[in-house]
Amino acid sequence: MIIIESVAQMQQFARERRGQIALVPTMGYLHEGHASLMVEARKRAETVVLSIFVNPTQFGVNEDLDSYPRDLERDQRVALEAGVDVIFVPKAADMYPQGYQSWVNVEELTRHLCGASRPGHFRGVTTVVAKLFNIVAPKVALFGNKDFQQLAVIRRMVRDLNMDLEIVGMPIVREADGLAMSSRNARLDEGERQSALCLSRSLAAARAAFAGGETSVQALAGVALAVIEAEDAAQVDYLEFRDQDSLEALEEADERTLLALAVRVGSVRLIDNCLLGER
Ligand code: AMP
Repeated sequence: MIIIESVAQMQQFARERRGQIALVPTMGYLHEGHASLMVEARKRAETVVLSIFVNPTQFGVNEDLDSYPRDLERDQRVALEAGVDVIFVPKAADMYPQGYQSWVNVEELTRHLCGASRPGHFRGVTTVVAKLFNIVAPKVALFGNKDFQQLAVIRRMVRDLNMDLEIVGMPIVREADGLAMSSRNARLDEGERQSALCLSRSLAAARAAFAGGETSVQALAGVALAVIEAEDAAQVDYLEFRDQDSLEALEEADERTLLALAVRVGSVRLIDNCLLGER
């Protein structure tokens, strides 16, 4: 496994391996959710490139860019174990040199959910992912359903801009007690870690009500919200039932309906989601 820091060197490597690369873009502080993407990447291409870049342009001014957890040494061990060939760790100054002024924006899909509560977030995401695609030239790139809207936005960008690669979405990997794995979980104290279970419990409660025959979004939202509101340390940012393709709001739910939520637990903002028909 090799580590590449410079954009130019990464491009040189990518030229030599053109058509053979699977890319897993991450912000590091790797966990089993990330590892599941790398393991799948290993099956899909001769060369696996893992990028680790805490992308400043997708963080708002009052967000957690500075406190985002980082540990490159530990990440190297996880990557090596998962069969990664190259870790690409660019510097912000190399990705966004002085005078930088070009952006990629997906307009409609980013108006909802995380896009509404984090203005500019997805513009940063699509821009950095487009840059990574240009630098690494992968034939396939893998993303997690944990960031459901991000995956939808990236698929749309790839289609709209005729980017020549396959996008693969992977299931959410959870802790044994149901908490969706996230680098941000490391910032929860013991009490908050317990409170954070309200996200997956809320999803489960809505799924159970739906399985019991409830299809009114208003009623299902009541069920899901009650679980989070019962938790003192938790504050709902959004809890929305949406069409999984357009991300538009719905009044009646079916099996394909997406339930997406963002909840603040202490100072940490967590997201989770499911489809109502999921087991
Ligand atoms: P991040 O480092 O949080 O930007 O995540 C990098 C990639 O890993 C994204 O495609 C995420 O959707 C994916 N990911 C993060 N957490 C999980 C998880 N618990 N299960 C599956 N994929 C995940």
